[in-house]
Amino acid sequence: MAYTDAFKGQLAATLSEVADAGLYKDERFICNEQGVEIDVEYPRGSEKMRVLNFCANNYLGLSSHPQVIEAARKGLDERGYGMSSVRFICGTQDVHNELEKKMAAFLGKEDCILFASCFDANAAIFEVLFTDEDVLINDRLIHASLIDGIRLCNAQRDSYKNADMGHLERKLKMWKDKARHMCIVTDGVFSMDGILAPMDKICALAEEYGALVLVDDSHASGFIGKTGRGVHEHFGVMDKVDVITTTMGKALGGASGGLVAGPREITEMLRNRGRPYLFSNSVPPPIIYGAMAVVDMLSQTTELRDKLEWNAKYFREKMEAAGFNLVPGETPIIPVMLGDAKLANDMARELLNEGIYVIGFSHPVVPMGKARIRVQLSAGHDKEHIDKAVAGFIKVGEKLGVIGKGAKAGS
Ligand code: PLP
Repeated sequence: MAYTDAFKGQLAATLSEVADAGLYKDERFICNEQGVEIDVEYPRGSEKMRVLNFCANNYLGLSSHPQVIEAARKGLDERGYGMSSVRFICGTQDVHNELEKKMAAFLGKEDCILFASCFDANAAIFEVLFTDEDVLINDRLIHASLIDGIRLCNAQRDSYKNADMGHLERKLKMWKDKARHMCIVTDGVFSMDGILAPMDKICALAEEYGALVLVDDSHASGFIGKTGRGVHEHFGVMDKVDVITTTMGKALGGASGGLVAGPREITEMLRNRGRPYLFSNSVPPPIIYGAMAVVDMLSQTTELRDKLEWNAKYFREKMEAAGFNLVPGETPIIPVMLGDAKLANDMARELLNEGIYVIGFSHPVVPMGKARIRVQLSAGHDKEHIDKAVAGFIKVGEKLGVIGKGAKAGS
């Protein structure tokens, strides 16, 4: 047995360092289905509290939507629980192919390939497409899964300051004659700030310098853009973004699964060489059926994304009027800036006591001194839920001196 006391002690010491730094991830237990009203047990075994959820990626309120559940149940009945195989051995059903076609059409791309998660999609794509002759130029705020995917490939790497087009252009100029292919990598919506990547400008620069554009639209697919296609629709560059990676674990049903949408040669390369695709189980049938119901629903009506847009605008207006310092933006991710990490955690705890479930984010997830509470709106919220959240914020904000007389506004 190699799990010695020394090893155990070393892990315990690291865990207490994590806790001392206020970074220990304490999980709260939800005892009903994911949704707007959740029953939270915290700590485990204590009495359940019914609270309003303002921190899920359940943007369209579909995680427990009756139509999605019914479809998933049908998938379970008709095609079983799981595939017990990766896709290329015996893990591909006709419905996997059907969902890939629907997703490609929804996102306006030639083809699509499913993964167990978007983390896997991002882990697969760079290694398959790029070598040390190429360069990947990424926004500095990209998601951890893109960073890890980039690390897994041999391409040369560079980066530009968040959404700074002057900086990106300097990098493109510098690499133009040094690399075979250049690829610009960005999130569509940056999840900690809720701001959009300027895709129109990125695509214009990509065209000028001959670079590919890859966007991770996990926090946009289903609701950003007039019909919810994503940031490429919002900025009118549907056909200029070459490759989209996204998740089905947020707006698109909230269960799990990820995908890459783009040119057929790219999806075919991924089917043949993408390691997380070749060496990990295929997406289970109930999720395939659920996701198909989601895409069908979103292709027929924009009702949910329109409600979400209204909700986000309403919450933003009320909070600004109350004197809170918000990151300006137009997405349903609305950070309430507080600056101090302890203040952010105290505020989240007090809000939970008021029946509002939100989380405080601090360093290293966000820059030092930029602690915040990230509020996420959902189409599942009704006006009365938002009014209750705003009232809770005002009550706690005044108590902690964030707003009102003598307030120290966060940066
Ligand atoms: N990309 C971004 C931008 C994300 O925010 C996330 C999830 O947090 C992922 C990828 C990973 O998605 P998945 O949960 O499908 O692995």
